[in-house]
Amino acid sequence: MKDVHIPNAVKLVLEQASEIAGYLWEREWIERNGGNLSVDLTDHFKEVSLPPDLSYIDKEFPKEAANLYLYITGASCYLRRLIDKIDQASCIMHINKNADGYAIIWGGEMQDFVPTSELASHLTIHLFNKSQNSPNKVVLHAHPSELIVLSHHKIFQDEQKLNQSIWKMCPEVRVYVPRGIHCTPYAITQSDDLALMTIDAFKTRDVALWEKHGATITAPTIEKAWDFMDVANKGAKLLLMAWSAGFEPEGISDKELKSLEKLFNL
Ligand SMILES: [Zn+2]
Repeated sequence: MKDVHIPNAVKLVLEQASEIAGYLWEREWIERNGGNLSVDLTDHFKEVSLPPDLSYIDKEFPKEAANLYLYITGASCYLRRLIDKIDQASCIMHINKNADGYAIIWGGEMQDFVPTSELASHLTIHLFNKSQNSPNKVVLHAHPSELIVLSHHKIFQDEQKLNQSIWKMCPEVRVYVPRGIHCTPYAITQSDDLALMTIDAFKTRDVALWEKHGATITAPTIEKAWDFMDVANKGAKLLLMAWSAGFEPEGISDKELKSLEKLFNL
């Protein structure tokens, strides 16, 4: 039993993780151990003191990660378990002040639990956000089906065209994915290359669509990350539906798009 006080704000984050995992599962976007989720909780633990006898596991982290509190899903854990067994499939970890060890201060109850193998890439994104004083505290990766299908189409090689095509499908996509999708070229999962390309993606876009793999998003809350994925995928789905029905969709006209952009200050 870990004797660490969990602030109410963190309990709300955990509730939201369960809720959104339910949506991801219903959509079939987190098959088996697909997908992972992390939240930088450092701000919420400022007033919390940790037990002095907490045991830390040796692991080297970037120095900027010192004293970070991170909610993160587990390696080989099924994200659908976040719905009703969140303390088994995920944990809150504290990285020590020398950034050479971590302790699990909540959760991680599954036998042989370790944080996701994507921990390094999640941390890279969180540390980038921190360096930018960004409000984005969440990193969500999942496998939204229609977006993945679109990343197999030749339109994926023309980012401008891909964004115009999905924005024109429905006003909501233009408004709620205002910076659009980054077409992130295929790179092997867990690689530094992929993490660095993803950071680059977030400088200009809301969604990093990893070619032939999935989507990664950083946002202030888990719900907002889900919203980006949900709405972007809606645009992709509508486009694919039109193509499947055998026609090129007319799309919202450039003039109509312009007035929408004006109305919402995009
Ligand atoms: Zn994946």
